[in-house]
Amino acid sequence: MSGAHRPTAASLDDLTDLPRPLRQAVADEFAFSSIIGSHTLEADGGLTAKAVHELGDGQRIESVLMRYPGRNAGSGRTTVCISSQAGCAVACPFCATGQAGFGRQLTAGEIVDQVLHWHRAPWLALGADWRPGGGRSHYNIVFMGMGEPLNNADRVFAAVRLLNDPARLGIGARHITVSTSGVVPGIDRMIDELPQVNLAISLHAATDELRDELVPINRKWPIAEVVAAGQRFAARTRRRVSLEYVLIDGVNDAADQAMGLAELAGGWLSHVNLIPLNPTPGSRWSGTSAAGVRAFAATIERAGVPVTVRDTRGREIEAACGQLHAQLAGRPIPAALPLVTA
Ligand code: SAH
Ligand code: SF4
Repeated sequence: MSGAHRPTAASLDDLTDLPRPLRQAVADEFAFSSIIGSHTLEADGGLTAKAVHELGDGQRIESVLMRYPGRNAGSGRTTVCISSQAGCAVACPFCATGQAGFGRQLTAGEIVDQVLHWHRAPWLALGADWRPGGGRSHYNIVFMGMGEPLNNADRVFAAVRLLNDPARLGIGARHITVSTSGVVPGIDRMIDELPQVNLAISLHAATDELRDELVPINRKWPIAEVVAAGQRFAARTRRRVSLEYVLIDGVNDAADQAMGLAELAGGWLSHVNLIPLNPTPGSRWSGTSAAGVRAFAATIERAGVPVTVRDTRGREIEAACGQLHAQLAGRPIPAALPLVTA
């Protein structure tokens, strides 16, 4: 057992409905959480919080809590972004996780324990709209932290089922999104095994030549195959697929590239989500300007394809994929920074 899936309990001692000798016996045999410590930073006035979690073998992973207050009480949204692997083997050059390389697969318990981290005080206690037991429609989990979830599909799927379980967190599959760099067999498994879970595909380029460089897994499953898999998902599940596109200044943000993207996205149940690059220290690239993002979005819109621009939360705490981890690499968390116990 790698986690006590009681949403708000912070330790076995909180499970006061269990007799003390039983709690002690459980504590002797099992770890309460697979996360042994977490270092947490806040940004956006406390609306964004990011944690680097240390696991039993010293591997570190990241998760992020993002809160979007609503106009009225109960109308806000909360999104928790979690990791599926320690590191990532896909090696996208603009991504801090990709630059750091692959560590190991996460277990289903390690994936679920990231979500549970944010269910403990003070995080979800700080005025979030979502409370265990109510208002769940505003609560979302996204696999957009470290790692390629469909390169760890068995454990990611097991974690999704644990998150769905009404006896645990009871988070509906429709509130969970798996983001993939384009692992085609994994997308087909999602169609068969998790058809209610949302699919996001990280496209980032409209030609194979450029995508081979930006998302190297493209050499195995090129754009046509990835888009065809997205179309199969949409046709079988009748659910809209999100095509993610990181905008990198002077690399993939020209008008003809916007038109190429609109062509790939048009005519089926998809929508384009633009993300200005959050620059990483290991890369020479920078994000497209706000005006450039608007122009790119307008081209897509004129082609009749639904398009959104993702807000960039938590820039000052290195909230993009793998960035805080990279900043802390090689530094012992407890010595350099206060360790907040999970
Ligand atoms: N491996 C999966 C999921 C994790 S990455 C995938 O690639 O889809 C989640 C998203 O963050 C992906 O769309 C990825 O391309 C994007 N991302 C990675 N590094 C980024 C950066 N520096 N700035 C903006 N987005 C980034
Ligand atoms: Fe891996 Fe996704 Fe980063 Fe690419 S963007 S290296 S697939 S985590």
